[in-house]
Amino acid sequence: MKADLEIDAAVAIEAPRLGEPYLLTPGPLTTAYSVKEKMLRDWGSWDGDFRAMTARLRAELLALVGEGAEDFDCVPVQGSGTFVVEAMLGSLLPRDSKTLVLINGAYGQRIAKTMDYIGRAHVDIDKGDYLPPRGPEVAAALAADPDISHVVVVHCETSSGILNPIQEISEATYAAGRKLLIDSMSAFGAIDVAAGDIRYEAIVSSANKCIEGVPGFGFIIARKSELIAAEGNAHSLSLDVHDQWANMEKTGQWRFTPPTHVVAAFMEALRLHREEGGIQGRGARYTRNRDVLVDGMRELGFETLLRDRWLSPIIVTFFNPADDRFEFTRFYDLMKAKGFIIYPGKLTVVDSFRVGCIGQMDHRTMRAVVAAAKSSLDAMGIASARPPQAALSEREKLAA
Ligand SMILES: *Cc1c(COP(=O)(O)O)cnc(C)c1O
Repeated sequence: MKADLEIDAAVAIEAPRLGEPYLLTPGPLTTAYSVKEKMLRDWGSWDGDFRAMTARLRAELLALVGEGAEDFDCVPVQGSGTFVVEAMLGSLLPRDSKTLVLINGAYGQRIAKTMDYIGRAHVDIDKGDYLPPRGPEVAAALAADPDISHVVVVHCETSSGILNPIQEISEATYAAGRKLLIDSMSAFGAIDVAAGDIRYEAIVSSANKCIEGVPGFGFIIARKSELIAAEGNAHSLSLDVHDQWANMEKTGQWRFTPPTHVVAAFMEALRLHREEGGIQGRGARYTRNRDVLVDGMRELGFETLLRDRWLSPIIVTFFNPADDRFEFTRFYDLMKAKGFIIYPGKLTVVDSFRVGCIGQMDHRTMRAVVAAAKSSLDAMGIASARPPQAALSEREKLAA
C-alpha cells in the first residue's frame, strides 16, 4: 500500500475538464488540460523563440535514450507516426539494401507495405496475429541470407498489445553483424530503450503516444553516423531525414511548416513526463493501469488474448464473450455513454476488442472502466464474459 501512496503523490491525474470521454485507445489519447491549453498561442516558425523550443524538444527527447545518447541525434518530422516510420526506412536503408522485416500484426505489415512502396528489398518473418518473433529465428534467417543488411521490428505491436522481445532480437541482429531499426511508436517514453542497454541504429515514435502530446509530428532518434550516411538515400523530399537533420543543425528550423501548436503542447507534455519521474514513472503508472484493468476484467469473466508474460502496459486485447447476447457495437455504445471510448480488435481468427492503458488516466480511471464494463454487460443481460472455447484454444499456441 505504500507503493500506492507514492504513485498517487507522484502525479495528479485529473478527469477530462471539458467533459469529453476518456480515449482508451493507442493514440490520439486523453491529454492533460495544461497540454491542450498550450495550443492557445500562435508561434512564428522562423522566430527565435520557436527555434529555441525546437532545440529543447530535440535535446529532451534525446535525453530519454539515456546512456549512449551522445552518439545519437533526434530529428522531428511532420505528420503522423507512419510518416516517420516511412522517413526512417527511406532514409536509413540504402537503395540496394535488403531488410528482414519482423511481422506479428498490422504495424509490421504496414512496414512491409512501406518497403514495397519505396522500393526497398525485404524478406519477412510473419508470425501471424500475435506470436512474438524470437531471437533464434532471426539468427537463422540472417545466417541463411548474407545479403540481408538490416532488421526492422515493432517494439509494442499495438494491434494485439504484445511487447516484442527487442533485446534478444537486437542481440541476434548484431551477433550476425547486421543493423536494427525499431518502431517504438507506442512504447517510447513508457518502456526503457536505453541505447546503452539495447543496441540499435534508430528508433521512432510520435507526439501522441506515451509522451501524451497531441498528434502532428513524429521523431526519429538515430545514430549520428547513420544520419550522415543517409545522404542521398531518400525516395522523398519531405521524408528525407538526412535533409531535415542537416537543415535543422544549420538553421535551427524545420524545413517546411512545423506544427507549431503541437510542438508547444508537446513541450508541456514533456514537462509532465519529467515531473512524473520520466520513463520509470510513466511506465509504472501504465503498468498499474493495466494490472487494475486486467484483474477487474478477469473477475467479470473476460480473458486476455496474451499470457501475462507478453502483456504490454500499453494496450490489452480481450476476447469477446461467448454469450450470444454480446454485440460489440452495443457494448461500445454503452461504454461510450459511461465516458469511455474503447477500441475494436484487429485479430483475424477470433473476435476481440482492445482497451488502452496510456494517456492521462490512472488506476482509479481503470476501476471505473471495469465498473462500466460490468454495468454494460448487465444491460445486455450477460452474466459472465467468458470467451468461447475456440478463443482459449487459440491462446494455447502461446505456450512458450
Ligand atoms: C500508432 C502506431 C504507428 C503510427 O500510426 P499513425 O496512425 O500513423 O500515427 C506505427 N506503429 C505503431 C506500433 C503504432 O502503435
